[in-house]
Amino acid sequence: MIDLRSDTVTHPTDAMRKAAMTAEVGDDVLRDDPTVAELERKTADILGMEAGLYVPSGTMGNQVAAMTQTEPGEEVIVETKSHIYTNEVGGLSALGGVQPRPIRGDDRGRLPEDAVAEAIHPASLHRPGTGLVCLENTHNQAGGCVLEPDDIERVAAIAHRNDVPVHLDGARLWNAAVALGVSESTFTDAVDSVMVSFSKGLGAPVGSLLAGSAEFIEDARRSRKRLGGGMRQAGIIAAPALEALEERDRLDVDHNNATRLAAGLDDLDGITAASPETNIVLLDLTASSYTGPAFAEAAENAGVGCIAFGPNTVRCCTHKDITDADIEEVIDRFADMIGS
Ligand SMILES: *Cc1c(COP(=O)(O)O)cnc(C)c1O
Repeated sequence: MIDLRSDTVTHPTDAMRKAAMTAEVGDDVLRDDPTVAELERKTADILGMEAGLYVPSGTMGNQVAAMTQTEPGEEVIVETKSHIYTNEVGGLSALGGVQPRPIRGDDRGRLPEDAVAEAIHPASLHRPGTGLVCLENTHNQAGGCVLEPDDIERVAAIAHRNDVPVHLDGARLWNAAVALGVSESTFTDAVDSVMVSFSKGLGAPVGSLLAGSAEFIEDARRSRKRLGGGMRQAGIIAAPALEALEERDRLDVDHNNATRLAAGLDDLDGITAASPETNIVLLDLTASSYTGPAFAEAAENAGVGCIAFGPNTVRCCTHKDITDADIEEVIDRFADMIGS
């Protein structure tokens, strides 16, 4: 199968497997694991943040960030189609006891500043105060769109004027940095916390990192423990993540593959695919005889993995285990399916 379901379906490189085998380890709950400490320091440096915390998943990173920066009952401003709001099993309310306040973003997943300004408010006798504003980069459901540093700074300025912190879900921040040809830290100047994933695009088997001020990370360490995310000899999985950091420049290949895939598929009758900014291609099937789920099923039967993203939408994700030849093959197989 040519698997375009996600950029998480990758297999670790030989270097990652070797790094896992030879990693120096210790009990990380007791802060004895030098490999985890190195990963946290190195990634925080890349992100231009004071400190980092290794977490088992991006979801835990986002939830720990929200729990640490809010009080139960507060409101958290999220984008309507953001991962933290739609795809984390209601964690904001179930775990953090906070109330999500969704705001519809534009077609690139950007929050309108006037809507944020209107939604932010202090606590009163009747109303919970706003505890956090969340942003996402790249924006998954918008199709891997890049939130530019200016977009982030404008929203953060409104939040900070109201003493509200900002969290950036940067599961694919690596892709945003490569797309704009800038460093990851360019996107984090104005935010208080950021989460990045080693297992998306970069090919590591496990893990994400939450970064922020040293004081925030000390508090976040307790939130992580509360969620059961304190890990022991975690250097075994942190070592491949250190290797993954060396794979960031390679994402350019995935972006080029995604661009070629979108162009090839957009030429087929019934499929509309906008040229992607990063590694996510959304197929609009409105003009075809397929629904999103029916297309994903037919694709699977044709040996191509993709996922239904809506009634008439399918997502294809490029990643390190997809070759140039795979892209041509997918275009051929989808052409056969569509009958053009
Ligand atoms: C995948 C993803 C996450 C969560 O990461 P997991 O490691 O799967 O928990 C968070 N945010 C975005 C934008 C994602 O795409």
